[in-house]
Amino acid sequence: MTVTTFETKTYQNFINNEWTASSSDETIESINPATKEVVGLVQKSTEEDLNKAVQAAHEAKKAWRRIGQAARGQFLFKAANILEENLDHIAETMTREMGKTLPEAKGETARGIAILRYYAGEGMRKEGDVIPSSDKDALMFTKRTPLGVVGVITPWNFPVAIPIWKFAPALVYGNTIVWKPATEGAVTAAKVAECFVEAGLPEGVFNFITGSGSVIGQGLIDHPLLNAITFTGSENVGQNVAKSAAARGIKFQLEMGGKNPVIVTKDANIDQAVEAVISGGFRSSGQKCTASSRVIVEEAVYDEFKEKLVEAAEKITVGNGLQEGIWMGPCASESQFNTVTESIEKGQQEGATLIHGGEVLTGGEYDNGFFVTPAIFENVTTDMAIAQEEIFGPVVALIKAADLEEAIDMANDTKYGLSASIFTSNISSLLEFVDEIEVGLVRINAESAGVELQAPFGGMKASSSGSREQGEAAKEFFTAIKTVFIKGS
Ligand code: NAP
Ligand code: MG
Repeated sequence: MTVTTFETKTYQNFINNEWTASSSDETIESINPATKEVVGLVQKSTEEDLNKAVQAAHEAKKAWRRIGQAARGQFLFKAANILEENLDHIAETMTREMGKTLPEAKGETARGIAILRYYAGEGMRKEGDVIPSSDKDALMFTKRTPLGVVGVITPWNFPVAIPIWKFAPALVYGNTIVWKPATEGAVTAAKVAECFVEAGLPEGVFNFITGSGSVIGQGLIDHPLLNAITFTGSENVGQNVAKSAAARGIKFQLEMGGKNPVIVTKDANIDQAVEAVISGGFRSSGQKCTASSRVIVEEAVYDEFKEKLVEAAEKITVGNGLQEGIWMGPCASESQFNTVTESIEKGQQEGATLIHGGEVLTGGEYDNGFFVTPAIFENVTTDMAIAQEEIFGPVVALIKAADLEEAIDMANDTKYGLSASIFTSNISSLLEFVDEIEVGLVRINAESAGVELQAPFGGMKASSSGSREQGEAAKEFFTAIKTVFIKGS
């Protein structure tokens, strides 16, 4: 083990500038999926707690808007520095709470800090444009204005980066927030919240509340004082968010699941493709919305690719992500573990052939965690559940295609449209792919997972509500535009 001292604490909500316990007097345990130990306890909040949080954000919104964008940016710079001082501790907490390896957790935390600094810098960037008026004596311009109270609902798989890429832009553009993190990542989230609290944001601007999705999440999206909602998570819950927001005419943003394809063409660099599928398919135990889950390989190179992929998968070490030399951690929770093992069984029942892994690891330390070895299937057809449903686990399905055209049709044969890769050295193939593929993130000779904070992020079809996060795109969601026309009197 790299680290030895870790305190199991009870974390509170942060509402209206105060750490407070829930009125329920109840807490929820967060469990380490590698050891089944309790990582910490969080509040099992009630509607009463939620009302206080939304009310606080509502009351704070006028003063926060008036303080100005430049001043708001300064708070984010401060939070970034505090987060940086706590990077190792936050990363270790993340590994303990949701299982990803420590290097990955550190990478994610560093990304969160970079995102914060990017949006802190927005404090000094433009708030609108001057547009020529047809009246030569008039001044016409746009001015960005905040939406008001923004609800932020986040998943457990990136418990630091996703929340920050939502509430950093929300805050710098002048919104106040109520953040409800996923219960399975709530201790890590509480530590991120502590950094924001230490940055000294004014009263009511930043509110943090934990509790069950069906009570606090649902209560938040239905709350009459909410002005907008940003959500990342599963498709089912996302559709619910959309319905509620549309019914009340508030702005909403959804990023949801994926069934991301990788195409390997006959002129691909096979070693490069293998490395990318290993990384995209199995890092974070496949629990990334952009994970590679379907690999569509042209017949001509199928056998070579398959052999090399299995050889590479055999080298993957599975275990507690805190230990050195471990490349892949456990599934993040018992329920994830059940989904993964059931999907593997279902794949076999459907007639696909499991050619590598997919075993539950037992014996010694493995008995205390939710460990599955990376699974590779072949003889998969596009109608099978393992080719259609998001598994969110370390499972890769190999599909054979006759040629590029068939491969692209197969890649698009899913309700999802988040990310997709192609491996090819043929410029016509890659151009065709860029045009034909129905996803928001198009990757050429690179793994399907992987985003840059300064570029728009988001999906098409059932993966997204169509808006984009990160980079300059965040401004489109978190602000409204006022068009101002001024004439002298
Ligand atoms: P989830 O079950 O949908 O949960 C997401 C969040 O919604 C959690 O905070 C959850 O709280 C809350 N929630 C649950 N029920 C709710 C309800 N009825 N009303 C409002 N909120 C509710 O998803 P997850 O299992 O945490 O995350 C995995 C999913 O997220 C996958 O589908 C993955 O593809 C997707 N994902 C997408 C992206 C992307 O950017 N496209 C990124 C990462 C993950 P509780 O934890 O308390 O239940
Ligand atoms: Mg957990």
